[in-house]
Amino acid sequence: MKAYRAALLRFDDDQRPVYDADGLLVVGPDANGKPVVRAAGDHATLIGNYPGVSVEDLRGQLIAPGFVDMHVHYPQTDVIGAPAAGLLPWLENYTFPHESRFADPAHAREVAAFFFDELLRHGVTTALTFATSHPASVDAAFEEARARGLRFITGKVLQDRHSPDGVRDETEQSLIDTEALIQRWHGVDRLGYAITPRFAPTSTPVQLRGAGELAAKYGDVWIQSHVAENRDEVRWAAELFPDARSYLGVYGDFGLLRERAVYAHCIHLDAADRAQMARTGAVAAVSPTSNLFLGSGFFDFAAADAAGMGYGLASDVGGGTSFSPFHTMLAAYCVGREGHTKPGLSLTPGQLWWQHTAGAARALGLEGVVGNLQPGCEADFVVLNPQATPLLARKTSQANSLDELLFALIVLGDDRVVVRSVIAGS
Ligand SMILES: [Zn+2]
Repeated sequence: MKAYRAALLRFDDDQRPVYDADGLLVVGPDANGKPVVRAAGDHATLIGNYPGVSVEDLRGQLIAPGFVDMHVHYPQTDVIGAPAAGLLPWLENYTFPHESRFADPAHAREVAAFFFDELLRHGVTTALTFATSHPASVDAAFEEARARGLRFITGKVLQDRHSPDGVRDETEQSLIDTEALIQRWHGVDRLGYAITPRFAPTSTPVQLRGAGELAAKYGDVWIQSHVAENRDEVRWAAELFPDARSYLGVYGDFGLLRERAVYAHCIHLDAADRAQMARTGAVAAVSPTSNLFLGSGFFDFAAADAAGMGYGLASDVGGGTSFSPFHTMLAAYCVGREGHTKPGLSLTPGQLWWQHTAGAARALGLEGVVGNLQPGCEADFVVLNPQATPLLARKTSQANSLDELLFALIVLGDDRVVVRSVIAGS
């Protein structure tokens, strides 16, 4: 058992932040020997319960749950910041050429290693990420994640049409590969598999139907894809699937809307789409830096809440511009404020932080597992330095409330704030 004394942030069951200015986090094995949070709360109240436990003194720093990135593309690590005229040219000119290189296991392994190091440097301890259409890209990511002890989810991209040579897969083989990868990796250590159609326009109906059959057969496997990111893409999906009620409806028609189904973007949805997501348990991965970078549109937080659909935050690198959860939370704030295409609102600092930790975990079906520091949660957390830069030190020293402290970190923070990322207690 080990304990840490620092300011401590976590969340209650009503999504509210809970803060101890002088807190104690106790980490130790559960009944199965898995490292979990044993206690979290006020130092003076708890310390008497743990005589003899070694306490690391981190006063002046803030311990918070590790961040959860609900949607990111590890093979696009080198695509970040590529100049392009919107989504479809960006895919054609940058993304597909880069992804074609992931047929080479050595290349995939090298990029995966860099990607995980970068996530941890930014305080992201769990991610749901796309691989590429090559099974080797999935093996490489799982091997690197496993070596680091991460809770991590990925899957082989399915794209058997409207894709160039080098990334396009073959319908029947793609489904055989997917099932083999599920059996090889899902549930191994902390790893999980996600059935991963790139997006409806790049899959034939036969491939989507096969994906839906696998999703029904393996009910605790995740599903990830994209939907309703920009208007050209929505029009294209409507042309390709004229019988579907909407773009989102395509996924419903093929059995790809259910719990643990995660759809990036969800910008250009209508009320019936949002109701369908809420009813089926499918959730949105809100990707604000990507949406602003590519000019795709603005996620409507209020409409999502009104419909009762789940969502959380995501970097969507390489369309997204940063691995930093702070940059993503700030962009989410700006997207929420936008009031020309939808009503503008001010997400509170606590809401933004929740959406990138406990809220994202809940949306993934991992509530109480990661993204929080309640007793029983897996011991993934970050140590943050609120004095990491001169301006942050000046600003946080003037904070009179938790909201002011958290918002200073959201607006001014980046990787310099992250002192340490702790995975499974070590
Ligand atoms: Zn994406």
